[in-house]
Amino acid sequence: MVRVRFAPSPTGPLHIGGVRTALYNYLFARKMGGKMLLRIEDTDQTRYVPGAEDYILEALKWVGIEIDEGQGVGGPHGPYRQSERKPIYRQYAEQLLAEGKAYYAFDTAEELEEMRKRLEEAKVDNMSYNAVTRMQMKNSLTLPKEEVEARIANGDPYVIRLKVPLKEEIRFKDIIREWVVVHSSTIDDKVLLKSDGMPTYHLANIVDDHLMEVTHVIRGEEWLPSAPLHILLYKAFGWKAPEFAHLPLLLKPEGNGKLSKRDGLLGNFPIFPLEWTDPFTGEVARGFKQDGYLPEAVINFLAFLGWNPGTEQEFFTKEELIESFSLDKIHKAGARFMIDKAKWFNQHYIKSKSEGELVAIIKESKADLSDELAAKLVSLMKDRVTFPQEIITEVPFIFEAPSIYDEEVAKSKWNDDARKAIGVIKEAVLAMNEVDFTAQQIHDTIFPALEAAGIKAGKVMQAFRLAITGVGKGPDLMLTLEILGKTEVINRIDKAVA
Ligand code: GLU
Repeated sequence: MVRVRFAPSPTGPLHIGGVRTALYNYLFARKMGGKMLLRIEDTDQTRYVPGAEDYILEALKWVGIEIDEGQGVGGPHGPYRQSERKPIYRQYAEQLLAEGKAYYAFDTAEELEEMRKRLEEAKVDNMSYNAVTRMQMKNSLTLPKEEVEARIANGDPYVIRLKVPLKEEIRFKDIIREWVVVHSSTIDDKVLLKSDGMPTYHLANIVDDHLMEVTHVIRGEEWLPSAPLHILLYKAFGWKAPEFAHLPLLLKPEGNGKLSKRDGLLGNFPIFPLEWTDPFTGEVARGFKQDGYLPEAVINFLAFLGWNPGTEQEFFTKEELIESFSLDKIHKAGARFMIDKAKWFNQHYIKSKSEGELVAIIKESKADLSDELAAKLVSLMKDRVTFPQEIITEVPFIFEAPSIYDEEVAKSKWNDDARKAIGVIKEAVLAMNEVDFTAQQIHDTIFPALEAAGIKAGKVMQAFRLAITGVGKGPDLMLTLEILGKTEVINRIDKAVA
């Protein structure tokens, strides 16, 4: 059975690339009738950010990515938080020690620095703790057995390193990148267990993927350089490696480089699904949710950042995405993050919402709105907005009579004909019954009245709109009048002509 995992590190709010990784894992799991796991990779205590884990859970829930097993859900392979699995990693590191595939290293920071300097003098660019240099350092391969035992018994700090073979070709076939071939001489003896007893990302990740029976590792391209080491680790343990699929990078809209968390905070890019207050800086980052994106739009937008169904279809419900998704349609090339496209999806999904759903959404931020008025505003604005809150913010004139009138429009449209027409409209409206004050009735009253007075409605309507709303453009005017009600319409006419 297919088993995939999303394995975020709780180092801050979820980056949009992380949400996409989670989504692709989820779509693949659902498509294959498999399971989606959530594992929290929190072994790097220095980068741990309080609240980030809850935030991740909330964000996934909001966007509709359901977890079958793991943190927050439970399951047979728990605990799913790596900080709670410490003894497991030590046990596996010790297994590699016992088999001679890993070793203790006692080097102090100063000794490592010394080696770095030596290598620098010898014009070696990158310091590498590898098959060559390890023989000059203090570790269980160079020190006598008794000394190693004595040091450990004495509580001397040590790390456990993987003994990377000197000459070995490492090859694996990534589902997206195809064949990846790397020589082991380019990989150094990575630390597996740190001096504080915590595993490194590499050890914990491999052990957990194995124990949790993960079949496919689907993750961002930034992890591709780690994959050969992971293959070596699987080999060292004698385990079958999962399949790998490294997802293309998300690029800045201009295509010039990788989209990063910083783009969110600096460029006010709404890249977080929820609002996030950084516990250290107090900085608040607004997310997709706060900006009024619907989860349906976010999912549809994200799905297309690196994947394409191979057809013309662009709108996909979650179910349709599951149906069409396949890893072999994921691109190699980076995907440009175009926020306008996200807006376009949002517009579409707003239109497809029912009146009741939109009323509920807009009342979340304006609770004092009556259901009746909310429903009318929805039908007035639904087809014209990108975000639900614009149903209210784009029509301030509904809530307050205009105090200023657009000068440009006034200059070109406010003339004697307009005044005369508005006089005619006023008389016609005055003769109307309050209860019949509907968009249709208003239309059927005003237009014949103007015609009878020999006025071309098309010539004066914009001036009339100006009188009522203060601006020259806007949503359906008849419906606007209905929402305002007869008394308010008369008041506004009087104010405008005064
Ligand atoms: N904890 C890693 C991250 O934060 C997981 C990488 C992986 O999926 O192997 O992205």
